[in-house]
Amino acid sequence: MSKWQELEGKYYMQTVNRVPVTLVRGEGARVWDDQGKEYLDLVAGWAVNSLGHCHPAVVEAIAEQARILIQTSNQFFTIPQVQLVQLLVENSCLDRVFLCNSGTEANEGAVKLARRYGQLHLKGAYEVITAFNSFHGRTLSMVAATGQAKHQKPFEPLPAGFINVDYNRLEAIKSATTEKTCAVLLEPVQGEGGVNIPDEDYLQKVREWCDEKGILLMLDEIQTGIGRLGTLFGYEQYGVEPDVITLAKGLGGGVPIGAIMAKEGACALVPGEHGSTFGGNPLTCAAAYATVKYIIEHDVCRQVRKAGQYFIDGLEGLRMKYDLVTEVRGRGLLVVMEFSRDAGGEMLDACLEKGLLVNRVKPNALRFMPPLTIEYDEIDRALGILDRVLADIV
Ligand SMILES: *Cc1c(COP(=O)(O)O)cnc(C)c1O
Repeated sequence: MSKWQELEGKYYMQTVNRVPVTLVRGEGARVWDDQGKEYLDLVAGWAVNSLGHCHPAVVEAIAEQARILIQTSNQFFTIPQVQLVQLLVENSCLDRVFLCNSGTEANEGAVKLARRYGQLHLKGAYEVITAFNSFHGRTLSMVAATGQAKHQKPFEPLPAGFINVDYNRLEAIKSATTEKTCAVLLEPVQGEGGVNIPDEDYLQKVREWCDEKGILLMLDEIQTGIGRLGTLFGYEQYGVEPDVITLAKGLGGGVPIGAIMAKEGACALVPGEHGSTFGGNPLTCAAAYATVKYIIEHDVCRQVRKAGQYFIDGLEGLRMKYDLVTEVRGRGLLVVMEFSRDAGGEMLDACLEKGLLVNRVKPNALRFMPPLTIEYDEIDRALGILDRVLADIV
């Protein structure tokens, strides 16, 4: 064990399961550890490093902005903030943006917005319907929104106002809807829950139901947004216009930033009701502006669709070759490989040894969420390593 891992064990609060690698440097889809070993990175900071590690466009934007102005508070107007929100609005179906610092925080704000909407338009309705196997964050109310017992049980009692129902089953939402319901909050594809892809018409049907009841459709696009599924936003693939979306992860190209985007009619919060000290600061906004601008100008989404299909085809080949692999699913560059037994841990360790970083999303599954800019030869290398690892394990 390296010195740094020993010190972590002594000083860091032990809340996360880490793999025994200390990363010191990254470039594109590659990273290096403190021993000088190189890895191909299919984790990408948990779907955060959309343009790969230390992309020049992002690095330059951060460096330049750091020399000019870093933090002002939202008491004042700043230019990078306005540039970012204009870019996001002009490339989406939403009308306004609120900026914060993480995904959880974006979802918290979205739920506050939904409750205010309920007070103003739905006779005080406050309940938000969310899905089992979802992931919405780690604060107490986002744990209540996250329909997974392992995230909820240790922290009971949970805040009220969240109803968890089956994902991809309209009837479940219908029967949970009452006069207390103000919103439905769903991921277009469930990420942390195991890359669960809903039926093509699911979100459309949910949209129709929300319209019928006058309640808000809020999509948690923290993982699916900013190109991950092969379109700038995940909702574009399902032919729906949500009232609210939340963003974070890939938005900043590596720096912590989150966003709530809403249709004009859903903007129920008024001055003084929500805010943030760091949210929308010039530094992170400059990084996010550079990231999103690059993705749009270089049509990175098109590349994600092509590279994603190429990767999934390759993984399908491995599924045919090895009985251990039972299923491969994905959209764009959010991909999962499932096994007939709980081989996720063994697979991860073996990949690590051969220089490939992956995420064990469930005991029996690996999730791949590489930089959106990953090259074909890097995908080939990843497939080659997975092939060798599978050959050893079977
Ligand atoms: C990661 C994630 C979150 C939480 O984001 P943080 O930035 O870790 O707070 C919420 N929702 C989804 C869908 C996520 O993938």
